Amino acid sequence: MTPPIPSTDLGPTPASPLPELPGHTSRGRLERVLRRGEFAITAELNPPDSANPDDVYERVKHFDGFVDGVNATDGSGANCHMSSVAICALLTRVGYSPILQISCRDYNRIAIQGNVLGAAALGVCNVLALTGDGVQSGDHPEAKPVFDLDSTSLLSVIKIMRDERTFLSGRKITDPPRLFLGAAENPFAPPYDWRPLRLAKKIAAGAQYIQTQYCYDVPLLKQFMTKVRDMGLDEKCYILVGVGPLPSAKTARWMRSNVAGVHIPDEVIKRIEGAENQKAEGIKLCIDLIKEISEIKGVAGVHIMAYRKEESVGHIVTESGVLKGRQPFRRAFATPADSEMPPSAVAM
Ligand SMILES: Cc1cc2nc3c(=O)[nH]c(=O)nc-3n(C[C@H](O)[C@H](O)[C@H](O)COP(=O)(O)OP(=O)(O)OC[C@H]3O[C@@H](n4cnc5c(N)ncnc54)[C@H](O)[C@@H]3O)c2cc1C
Repeated sequence: MTPPIPSTDLGPTPASPLPELPGHTSRGRLERVLRRGEFAITAELNPPDSANPDDVYERVKHFDGFVDGVNATDGSGANCHMSSVAICALLTRVGYSPILQISCRDYNRIAIQGNVLGAAALGVCNVLALTGDGVQSGDHPEAKPVFDLDSTSLLSVIKIMRDERTFLSGRKITDPPRLFLGAAENPFAPPYDWRPLRLAKKIAAGAQYIQTQYCYDVPLLKQFMTKVRDMGLDEKCYILVGVGPLPSAKTARWMRSNVAGVHIPDEVIKRIEGAENQKAEGIKLCIDLIKEISEIKGVAGVHIMAYRKEESVGHIVTESGVLKGRQPFRRAFATPADSEMPPSAVAM
């Protein structure tokens, strides 16, 4: 059966899969941009509570030309939404470069390994391995948590599938998944000294990049990065720092009290509270943070989590100036010829 054509006008057909490059583990744009040493931008797509593909396409259009990877969250906050595999499938179908988030809360190793193969077959090149939020934090607290694996063991399972061409059981995989492996880290949650050590464990298990929790405390990030550099971890793994616009001081206070692992200093809340237009100040704060974060040695990019504010991402990226004239993938410009062009000319 021919796949349904999304009713949203998304332009021409997607680019052909990119060719393999020596030393790369995936054929994806995110790995290319990072290995080229360019400042990478990823952004989180808020998953719809609907079965309508246009709800995904309408949101992702705001990222066109601004990001190198689109994160498809997996029941974050332990709330039910459209699945990350389905969102990734919709995105690869039209040429975007999604990051498949996998939370160990909802699936055992049999389901996860099947999903990894299926996602790779659909053109997914990036995975973010997560233990996942506990069921008690979401809208189905009576759900049965799985946690057969955690983020670190999940990384090693996918690494085995990719590099040793077998399932965890040892059974052969004929065509292995070509994936760029990532994990999350939280430099802003105590015990702070423990965070770089935990990162080292995730790198040893296979993490090639990390995306951090929201950063609203640059001194704390600098402290983390100093330890990371001392341990040489920034040489082994690309570090993308999480950022996001705060819509109001009230929301900031709510996030600080209710979202596990989110740290927002009082000065940040005061800055937003004191502004005439709190929403605009939240966006300005995010831009200022990106500029400051991009100057820290060892930081390879930022991960923008604009909760239900996808439309602000283009402005934030442009005003931060971190792309320095580079043009990430833009659907309207994608043609099969893109993959043949030299890196400087590729619309990635
Ligand atoms: C960029 C990003 C994306 C995320 N996307 C999702 C998603 O799609 N779905 C989802 O369910 N969750 C998501 N989360 C939340 C994340 O799963 C939880 O914050 C988790 O507790 C820590 O990250 P991890 O899953 O990598 O766990 P790990 O680092 O593997 O941690 C495992 C265990 O360590 C403990 N731990 C870790 N951090 C903390 C902390 N700050 N405070 C107390 N205990 C802690 C917990 O017991 C946790 O179960 C995301 C987080 C980040 C930073």
